[in-house]
Amino acid sequence: MREPVLAITELTVQYGGIRAVDGASFQVAEGELVAIIGANGAGKSSTLRAIAGLAPVAGGDILLDGVSIRGVPAHELPRRGLALIPEGRRVFADLSVLDNLYLGGYSRPREEIAGDLRQVYELFPILRERSHQAAGTLSGGEQQMLAIARALMSRPRILLLDEPSLGLAPVIVQQVFSLLRHLRERGVTILLVEQNARLALEAAERGYIMHTGRIVLSGPARELAKNPEVRERYFGTA
Ligand code: ATP
Repeated sequence: MREPVLAITELTVQYGGIRAVDGASFQVAEGELVAIIGANGAGKSSTLRAIAGLAPVAGGDILLDGVSIRGVPAHELPRRGLALIPEGRRVFADLSVLDNLYLGGYSRPREEIAGDLRQVYELFPILRERSHQAAGTLSGGEQQMLAIARALMSRPRILLLDEPSLGLAPVIVQQVFSLLRHLRERGVTILLVEQNARLALEAAERGYIMHTGRIVLSGPARELAKNPEVRERYFGTA
């Protein structure tokens, strides 16, 4: 079996007396798109933030390509191949689209940045058109694209995506997810955390269901999407 890019074992995240993640274990193999779904407050964001060095890990381990990154400072992780796209995107609003992209590539060898930029523009032609516009003037969907594109500029081993659908109009959400499927086809390794279970399981290869900080179910995304309990609990009425 391929060594997973990311292996999480018994992860526990604790904020004072609140245990947000309680012994969660899961893996992401190279080239996989894996989704963690669950209700509001299930601990999904805390899981991603802990992996990215931004939430307090009280137990367990986080292996990136077989090496523990538990305790590695957040600012060091992009260099190790981890790229987090936080909830609410957060692009640098006053900077141009191009400067946002350059910032994403700051840890890359200088001579490779032009090539990276070309590839990102191929994936996101709209960003080429908007390259000299301030990022804050982009629409919500375009800002989400920029946040993803900026992360790709660092050529990550794995992309961690927190709720990319949040606050976007349904038609834009469809675009974001079709982009994720496209990235998956190109072999980008992605861990996606989503409340929109239906879309997440459509895009992903495998899924994990998180409930009160624990992984309660896992399997091929297609099977989870057919599971009546999953449908009833997480698919809503749509
Ligand atoms: P959401 O979709 O709302 O982001 P989630 O599944 O990502 O939900 P988390 O945001 O990880 O869940 O929250 C899990 C639990 O941890 C919740 O009870 C939340 O209130 C708590 N929590 C999250 N962040 C903090 C924090 N910084 N300090 C204290 N408690 C927190």
